[in-house]
Formats: sequence, structure tokens, C-alpha cells
Amino acid sequence: MTFQVTVTPSGRQFSCEADETVLNAALRAGIGLPYGCKNGACGSCKGKILAGSVAHGHHQQRALPELEAAQGMSLFCCAKPQSDLTIEAREIVASGEYPVKKMPTRIAKLEKLSDDVMLIALQLPANERLQYRAGQYIEFMLRDGKRRSYSMANAPHNDEHITLHIRHMPGGLFTDQVFSTMKERDILRFEGPHGSFFLREDSDKPVILLASGTGFAPVKAIMEHLIYLESSRPVTLYWGGRRPADLYMHALCEEWAGKLPYFKYVPVISNAAADDHWTGRTGFVHQAVMQDFPDLSDHQVYACGAPVVIESAQRDFVARCQLPKEEFFADSFTSEADLAS
Ligand SMILES: Cc1cc2nc3c(=O)[nH]c(=O)nc-3n(C[C@H](O)[C@H](O)[C@H](O)COP(=O)(O)OP(=O)(O)OC[C@H]3O[C@@H](n4cnc5c(N)ncnc54)[C@H](O)[C@@H]3O)c2cc1C
Repeated sequence: MTFQVTVTPSGRQFSCEADETVLNAALRAGIGLPYGCKNGACGSCKGKILAGSVAHGHHQQRALPELEAAQGMSLFCCAKPQSDLTIEAREIVASGEYPVKKMPTRIAKLEKLSDDVMLIALQLPANERLQYRAGQYIEFMLRDGKRRSYSMANAPHNDEHITLHIRHMPGGLFTDQVFSTMKERDILRFEGPHGSFFLREDSDKPVILLASGTGFAPVKAIMEHLIYLESSRPVTLYWGGRRPADLYMHALCEEWAGKLPYFKYVPVISNAAADDHWTGRTGFVHQAVMQDFPDLSDHQVYACGAPVVIESAQRDFVARCQLPKEEFFADSFTSEADLAS
């Protein structure tokens, strides 16, 4: 059975099968709704049902608390229609502009950037290119239909290889393999590009980039893109880690700060040990932003990495620093652990 979905305020319409999610149907129709994990965990795809009803598949309570569901809010990545729908959702003009491709890829390089972060460089098949926006991600297609998402760490103009920064999650299906048996020249399959986390180039508002751990990967791609554009938009990067070694490209950030007059870099460490001799900022990375920018009403924030950091930043920046909620863009690096919690 097929239902009709109308998006407000744009008035655009698309068809959605009873057994497909509203998000998938929208993307298939070239309508760019925002999304991140596509698993009901991060909340990036949340919007309102103004008319009609949906059935929600498995999702996290904290991504859609019962009270919000009762008020008509919906996670479009796991909502299937039960009738025609009118939904309220922010549309992303640039999303969906590049074709989503499935392709094999050969691992051209594996390089440890720290004890638990691996750089993987991917070689695409001859005559293939992957067009994407800095900040987007690809999904590796594993056996048994499982998928794992990783953000491109290089800007698209520099596309000889696609590079990824992958943190080891012990016991993890994919990253255990990355840190044990995976080797150069292995073949993987992926699909992409995906995601709505990319720089809004139609704005000239000052930018706060907030990264935790390997959330630096898409932030690096965005910075490389800004440098390529010869932008002079003010950018402040906050990069948080537990220990200084977690900021595995600290030297690159300091180099940018030394040569780009519009760029500031603030590394923040939450659990420094005495022998780290850390003399910089300490504490939670999103709180460092709030100390420096008590008023974010004129800013855009791009946040990426650990789900707890993204959730805290979104909540506190909007509630306490007057950040307009539509100026917060994020990819939350959710994993099986978050889906199980
Ligand atoms: C949009 C997006 C972009 C991302 N980009 C990046 C990136 O650039 N870099 C990066 O490092 N990561 C990124 N991630 C996270 C990444 O996709 C994986 O989730 C992560 O690498 C873990 O994968 P895995 O297969 O190794 O672990 P998983 O199999 O997902 O397991 C993760 C952890 O949970 C535990 N676990 C597994 N099952 C359960 C269970 N049932 N109950 C409790 N615990 C369980 C495992 O032991 C392990 O410690 C991104 C995620 C998203 C959604």
C-alpha cells in the first residue's frame, strides 16, 4: 500500500510505501530531510507529524521521549506510515545532490594515528569518483547485512583517496577487525555519500566546530574545504579528548591556527594524567565553548563525535547560550552499544 506524504512548509510531496520509512522514501524522491544514524538513536531526523499516523520501529527513548511522541514528534528514520501524512520538517537544499553509489574499494593504506585510532585510505575503482560534501559519511556493507558508518576525513577536492579515522571500540564487530586482521589491499564494499552534516555555505555566521575524539574526521574535511574556498569566515575549533594523545592531529590544528587569521583552536582534555604535563584547557569540551561563548545567538555550531557530547551540546547551547536550534548541525557517532542501551 502506498501513502502520500506532504512536507511543510515547502509543500513538496512524495509517496511512501507502508513498509518503508518516511526518511528512506523522502531520500528516494530527492527530498533532503536531515538525518544521521538512520537507526533511531541520534535524533537528527526528528520532525513533527501534523496529520496522519505512523508506527515507530525500534528506537532509543532518549532520541524520542514518550512525551515528545505524544506531542506528535517523530523519528522519520524509523517511522512507517499508516495513513497519508503531513509532516513538518526542515529541508536541506544540498542534501541528495550527489548520487548515492555502492562500490568496492581497496585499502590503500592503514596507519595508526594513536594507540586506538587508525587512518584508513581507500582506493576507488579506476574511473570511479565519489562526489560528496565535506562532513558526509559512507557506510561499509558487512556480511549479514550489517553496516558501519565512517565520516570522510578529507575534503572532496582532494579525492585521490578517501581517508577515514576509525577509533577502536573493543568487542566491536568492525573495529576489532580493523585493529587485528585487516591489511592493505583488502577489499571492502561501501555505500555513500550519506548524511546532512556539512557546512551551510549560504551563511556567513561565525562557526564553532566541536569535535570529540574521531569526530575530528568530518571537521577536518570541513576545515580543508574552507581553506580550499579561501574563506575568511571566523571559525573556532574545540577538540575534546580524555588524554592529550586522543587529539591525534593536534599539530595540524596548531599549524592551521598559526597561518589562518580567521581560525582559532582550543584543545580540551577531560582526564589528563600527571605525566601528560597538560597545561591547556580541561573539563568537558562543550562546557569550554559555553565559557568562551555565553551568547551563541549569532553563530552556527557543527558538532561531531560521542553521542553524550552531542546531546549535551545541543541541549545546553540552545537552552543556555541562545543558539537558534536550527543552527546546530551534528553527527552523533552512535554504535551498537547505544542501540542496546
Ligand atoms: C553517521 C555516523 C558517522 C560515524 N563516523 C565515524 C568515524 O568517522 N569514526 C569512528 O571511529 N566512528 C564513526 N562512527 C561510529 C561507527 O559507525 C561505529 O559505530 C563504531 O566504529 C563501532 O563499530 P564496531 O562494529 O566496531 O562496534 P559495534 O559492533 O557497533 O559495537 C560497539 C561497542 O558496543 C559493544 N556492543 C556491541 N553489541 C552490544 C550490545 N548488544 N550491548 C551492549 N554493548 C554492545 C561492543 O563491545 C563495542 O564496544 C560513526 C557513526 C555514525 C552513526
